Amino acid sequence: EEFEYDDADEDLVERPPVVTIMGHVDHGKTSLLDAVRSTEVAAGEAGGITQHIGAYQVHHNGKTITFLDTPGHQAFTAMRARGARVTDIAVIVVAADDGARPQTDEAIDHAHAADVPIVVAVNKIDKEGADPTRVRTELTQRGLQPSEWGGETEYVDVSAKTHQNLEELLDTLLVVAELEELEANPNAEASGVVIESKLDPGRGPVVTVLIQRGTMRIGDALVAGAEPGRVRAMIDYRGERVQQAVPGDPVEVLGFDGVPDAGEVVRVVANDREARRLAQERETREKAESLARRAG
Ligand code: GDP
Repeated sequence: EEFEYDDADEDLVERPPVVTIMGHVDHGKTSLLDAVRSTEVAAGEAGGITQHIGAYQVHHNGKTITFLDTPGHQAFTAMRARGARVTDIAVIVVAADDGARPQTDEAIDHAHAADVPIVVAVNKIDKEGADPTRVRTELTQRGLQPSEWGGETEYVDVSAKTHQNLEELLDTLLVVAELEELEANPNAEASGVVIESKLDPGRGPVVTVLIQRGTMRIGDALVAGAEPGRVRAMIDYRGERVQQAVPGDPVEVLGFDGVPDAGEVVRVVANDREARRLAQERETREKAESLARRAG
């Protein structure tokens, strides 16, 4: 398991929970992500101009929460396929005027398979015909009994449109995070996961990395899959250049030689030579595997 490190207890400090929003199409995933982000903009944190880097952070009650802004299922499947656990909490959005639908079930399955706790956001409670009790009943039949009914799942009734109860949602996420005791060693060599990547015509490979351990700094040599690189610049979710990134931070990293896939593990290594050696090793292994597959 790549993400089991033997850090000593005294090196571990609390880190932000990483939250993914999933749910049936049109139930309000995008709207809820936007609404939550706007609480931060309103609080003057994000400086107004938000840049899309596949993740963002909000600050609430003195704590930080990282939201993955990539399509939930994609993030889960691509990353889990490689054994990487990126999400600490899954928010499953269910429209109160529609109830549980096929992709709601899929989302529940994904979260269970990844062994990630679920918070249910019952969305669109502003709408006529909203029936949050029905949603609770339907999801209870799927094993998600609400805590207010004696079960173990937290539900929050929200409206991404009117912004009703967004603070309560953030409160709930922090309560669930607290129980998970999320910690990381910020003083190790940095590692994390690619959550998005693209080739930008002007800037070259642009790779959004979620830092999971250690501190990444400008000039660090690193490798992701078969792509070596050296950190030339880092840009945070506000669009600002930063000198370092710590566990829980999503950052755009410039300086990769190529474009690693989402889900690849990113590791800072001792030097460029080591980065190239590891990348080469991986490429050789991939070639051998693909040859073996073709040979049947
Ligand atoms: P997604 O497919 O899950 O990302 O859903 P969207 O965020 O695109 O929302 C689907 C539709 O529902 C859009 O027309 C939204 O404006 C609308 N919508 C989302 N949240 C709410 C809400 O809380 N109340 C109301 N009335 N409409 C909402």
